[in-house]
Amino acid sequence: MLIVQKYGGTSVGNLERIENVARRVVKAKEEGNDLVVVVSAMSGETNKLIEYAHHFSKTPSRREMDMLLSSGERVTASLLAIALQEMGLPAVALTGRQAGIRTDDTHTYARIESIRTETIEQELKKGKIVIVAGFQGINRHGEVTTLGRGGSDLSAVALAGALKADACEIYSDVDGVYTTDPRIEPKAKKLDTISYDEMLELSSLGAKVLQNRSVELAKKMGVKIIAKSSFSDGPGTMITEEDETMEEVVVSGIALDKNQARVSLRDVADRPGIAAEIFNKLAQEQINVDMIIQNASKEGTTNLGFTVPHSELERAKEVIGSFGGEFGSADYDEEVCKVSIVGVGMKSHSGIAAKAFSTMAQNNINIEMISTSEIKISMIIDEKYGELAVRVLHDAYELDK
Ligand code: ADP
Ligand code: ASP
Ligand code: MG
Repeated sequence: MLIVQKYGGTSVGNLERIENVARRVVKAKEEGNDLVVVVSAMSGETNKLIEYAHHFSKTPSRREMDMLLSSGERVTASLLAIALQEMGLPAVALTGRQAGIRTDDTHTYARIESIRTETIEQELKKGKIVIVAGFQGINRHGEVTTLGRGGSDLSAVALAGALKADACEIYSDVDGVYTTDPRIEPKAKKLDTISYDEMLELSSLGAKVLQNRSVELAKKMGVKIIAKSSFSDGPGTMITEEDETMEEVVVSGIALDKNQARVSLRDVADRPGIAAEIFNKLAQEQINVDMIIQNASKEGTTNLGFTVPHSELERAKEVIGSFGGEFGSADYDEEVCKVSIVGVGMKSHSGIAAKAFSTMAQNNINIEMISTSEIKISMIIDEKYGELAVRVLHDAYELDK
């Protein structure tokens, strides 16, 4: 079998843990498998590098950020290869470029466009264990790019798809996907399986156990992901196509996203095109706008509120600043978070949203913004109530049962 394994930051967080990973890799190799192993940077490393950059600039150049951040994964990839070689196994570490990962030009959020698997295949043929630095590729100009936070998951899924691997195992510090973050709600239940669509919603809404784009790609390429722990042995959670048994569940999970900030523009000139101008300019700066609320206009002006990732707030402020006198005032709230309820079964059930709102009311949590789709309900609330909201909602939908 050809297996792609991915080990996240905590799993390679120090030298002993890298050795632990090496032992796991040896075991899988001894069972007769070919192995491609994708690694993240040591936990905390990427954040540390971002902080270093912010020492010099609030809005550092995205190109230089990619040069900087891609280094963390190279460190762990080469250390793991060295550890394996010392254990007597042939291993070779590759950067994203060497692994043939070509992306578009969007620095810090690059999309994988193609993978040339020749080098990896040649190394595998020689009997080597191929270690790939996750989270990175190169664009058509040969510049280093990174794939967005949590992007090593995407590297692993893309490689599994391109190599037509028999399995894609994503190892972290949890033994699978739970009904909500088990660090917030200890009563959360581990799921044996979850559909791509539900997992995609959960991860897009903040469940970082899998990066959302990796789930999207897995669905597109038909890559079955298994989420497991690198610290224990267990079956993990299989992320796969929806089947009949899955449809029974109305609510499958609760997600919390703390990487949120709210922008409120007051007294915006109410003229056609203003929203397009604002949101186009934000899009040009690669700022993802999430929830948007516009009030009914009064006396020719309106209020416009939206959320952006907290990490993009400084860039958003610059964009808003460039509009000059088009609005009365702009204010920014960094202390918000988004709590969401996800479930494919919501499509055919009523009263799910009403229950969410009354649960929040009973706990005196004010809802600042709401958005819904067929399979999710999201609410923006004060950050300090985020974890409480997760727990009371988890209870209200009886997810521990
Ligand atoms: P890695 O660094 O290995 O990529 P992450 O920290 O990105 O790992 O993801 C694992 C973390 O995801 C867990 O420690 C857990 O706190 C968090 N998490 C959030 N939501 C969930 C969920 N629904 N199920 C499991 N883990 C979750
Ligand atoms: N090191 C990167 C991050 O922290 C990528 C990853 O871990 O998947 O976002
Ligand atoms: Mg991760």
